[in-house]
Amino acid sequence: MIFHSRTLSRFPNLKIAFSTKQFGNLSFQHPLINKKITRKNRTKFYSSLKIPSRQVVNISLNHKNKILWVSRKKMGKGSLAQSALTSFYDGLITNEKNIYLMITTADCFPVFYFDPKKECVGLAHAGWRGILAGINRQMVAIFQKKAGSNPKDIKVFIGPGLQRCHFEVKKAVFDRFGRSFENNASFVKKNRLFVDLSQTIKIQLINEGIRPANIEKSDLCTYCENDLLSSYRRDKERYSAQGAIIGLFD
Ligand SMILES: [Zn+2]
Repeated sequence: MIFHSRTLSRFPNLKIAFSTKQFGNLSFQHPLINKKITRKNRTKFYSSLKIPSRQVVNISLNHKNKILWVSRKKMGKGSLAQSALTSFYDGLITNEKNIYLMITTADCFPVFYFDPKKECVGLAHAGWRGILAGINRQMVAIFQKKAGSNPKDIKVFIGPGLQRCHFEVKKAVFDRFGRSFENNASFVKKNRLFVDLSQTIKIQLINEGIRPANIEKSDLCTYCENDLLSSYRRDKERYSAQGAIIGLFD
């Protein structure tokens, strides 16, 4: 099964998807990696979306804020094996058609971006470190600088991830979010400390000029949805990373 976005799935030449754990592990960075099986799982995922693997670009995840502008030259990098060329990024952006951006996640949030006016797509891997490092701010800045986007035109879908019900944190992390988001996304419940990461992403986006009406949040929690999704926090090293994909075609 594959999830779509209410807001973004209505554009006829835009492909956007998020896999369930039924596809198996899709990450080449998995601690118990079997490359052959992962390649097979990815091939199945791409073909279910009718996407040729040579049109996919996938990055390794670093939990930082660097974003790669993807040109035709980079097409196919990281698609069926890890690529050194795409190793230092947590976000991808392109305004070329028939290039599909891909990341894998297993609790961190996939953030899908689309500017229908400039026909530009982006995909960010947003975990707590990347969020504090400003990954979403950075993405909007590159939409403006490189694609000439007006933030008011950009539509965003924040996909499934470890939601507020399950993102319990230690005091140091809690305090950092409290400072960065003026306590608008962190809360205490029965003496335990929680952060609502999806909300922090939304706050960052609104601060960058994205209209609240253009932001859609999935309410699926990777931890809660045991039948559908894999969670690193729940499944430990037996997790299987899900795939997120976005791209325009003609
Ligand atoms: Zn949950």
